[in-house]
Amino acid sequence: MKLILFGPPGSGKGTQASLLAKKINVPHLSTGDILRLKLNDKDELANELSKIMSSGNLVPDSILNPIVAEKLLSSDCKNGFILDGYPRNKSQSNFLIDFLQKNKIDLDHIIDFKADTETIKNRIIQRSKIENRSDDNLEVIKTRLEKYFAETQPLAGFFRDNFEGKFFEINAMQEISKIQSEIENRLKNA
Ligand code: AMP
Repeated sequence: MKLILFGPPGSGKGTQASLLAKKINVPHLSTGDILRLKLNDKDELANELSKIMSSGNLVPDSILNPIVAEKLLSSDCKNGFILDGYPRNKSQSNFLIDFLQKNKIDLDHIIDFKADTETIKNRIIQRSKIENRSDDNLEVIKTRLEKYFAETQPLAGFFRDNFEGKFFEINAMQEISKIQSEIENRLKNA
């Protein structure tokens, strides 16, 4: 199964992606996690990434697009993948659509996680107590949400219009187990 999960930071898509990836046995490709791993290299690229990520801004497409392309072509993704956190702007979306077409990869579903800003902020503050992420503080959350609403959310409309029958929304303000079962039911009945 080949899925894209959309949703603001803190909407719980990472948690759901990871639960679902285990259940259907496909890799969970979180671009945030992939980039955070790169920070451990402590090289020049890691320095550049660290500055961008801790400010809440988006990493350049020129860095991210090849990383995603390489992952999607790897044998791990042969039977599917769950993309979490990508695409995040129009140019990434154009790149991805073109890449999928060229490589004859068909998406099965695009899931849009809906949550209001207050819920998101509260969740990120809670997460900051557990995960120690440099971008989980109120100042940076503001930038990340601005980026999301300006650049990422409009993509959902594009996917809704162009992937009819494959796009669905989930109320992401519910309990984790409730969201999980709703997603599983939607996928089963699709
Ligand atoms: P996330 O864990 O998905 O919230 O991502 C953490 C940070 O990684 C983001 O705030 C961005 O700086 C960077 N990032 C993750 N995915 C992308 C993407 N698709 N495009 C640009 N930057 C990204």
